[in-house]
Amino acid sequence: MVEKTDIRSMELSELTAFVTELGEKPFRARQLYAWMHQKLAGSIDEMTDLSLAFREQLKQKCNYTVLKQADVQVSGQDGTRKYLFALEDGNLIESVLMRYQFGNSVCISSQVGCRMGCKFCASTLHGFVRNLSPAEMLGQVYQIAADVGERISNVVVMGIGEPLDNDANLLSFIRMLTDENGLHISQRSLTVSTCGIVPGIRRLAAEKLQITLALSLHAASQEKRKELMPIAKQYELQEVLDACRYYFSMTGRRITFEYALAAGVNDSDADAEALLDLLSDFNCHINLIPINPVKEREFMSSGRMAVQSFKNKLEKNGINVTIRREMGRDIDGACGQLRKRHMEGRWVT
Ligand code: SAH
Repeated sequence: MVEKTDIRSMELSELTAFVTELGEKPFRARQLYAWMHQKLAGSIDEMTDLSLAFREQLKQKCNYTVLKQADVQVSGQDGTRKYLFALEDGNLIESVLMRYQFGNSVCISSQVGCRMGCKFCASTLHGFVRNLSPAEMLGQVYQIAADVGERISNVVVMGIGEPLDNDANLLSFIRMLTDENGLHISQRSLTVSTCGIVPGIRRLAAEKLQITLALSLHAASQEKRKELMPIAKQYELQEVLDACRYYFSMTGRRITFEYALAAGVNDSDADAEALLDLLSDFNCHINLIPINPVKEREFMSSGRMAVQSFKNKLEKNGINVTIRREMGRDIDGACGQLRKRHMEGRWVT
């Protein structure tokens, strides 16, 4: 059987070439692109200003990716919505809508499962299944926008998976999400979080985009980081920081360092000192995340006092620090937990 073309993953230039090959005028590509990425059509049949014959041809030759909402949990505390989406092959992914004063932020997954193996993370517990296509990444934003009927102002690639382990698809996704012919979300409103895959950071830097790079640091020494994050065995801390410096030099965008605080692991005064030393020459922002305990993992969250004192210590030394607000605490806590629960319960087939 001939593979069908994944039409919703095509950037406008690719789509134009494809449509021309089918014997249509190039402007049809623009129309089609608008249906897929602006009007967020649920099927090819909805695209009524394209001729019936053309639509039939597309249906025969192409796959039109639409995610199915399998579950949603709504927080009674802050309106956070956690979505579980089913992909065409039955795999499940998780996305989150967070409502802030400045607008709606969506957190998306970049892979089904993850192979990075961070010791405190739930996403990795069921292993890695496959990469998400650009359409499947976009689909999470599109479904949520349609579900709440509101504009999405920010997108963070911080859900399940390692985006720089899927960077070709990630780049298409970024170009399409920020395209003026699509939802046209500004590059500055997009954040990509990585565990520190050095060649991937450098490739992303070379694109000279205006997106924010968030690095999952979580420890201030190579030794400690290696214990928490297996990827650190492959890329030494100094190498990762050099790649971050390169990212800043290429884009002028300040790096965000994420630091998940675990009680007795990386939250002492000495840890804060080490972090200050490590980042002394960086124009950066540190996002402290009180660790979200995962049942299968032994880590406990640092107490309120410990988090505050860690923050104060950094701030006294002129570093810009925020504590990540724990959104939707009353619904399945940490990233990957909603999917995990479903896989272990009634969703297992
Ligand atoms: N793979 C990417 C993005 C996904 S995770 C990365 O590693 O950055 C998004 C952030 O949540 C990362 O900083 C990750 O380390 C952190 N995280 C994962 N599990 C967590 C947990 N249980 N508690 C707090 N933060 C967690």
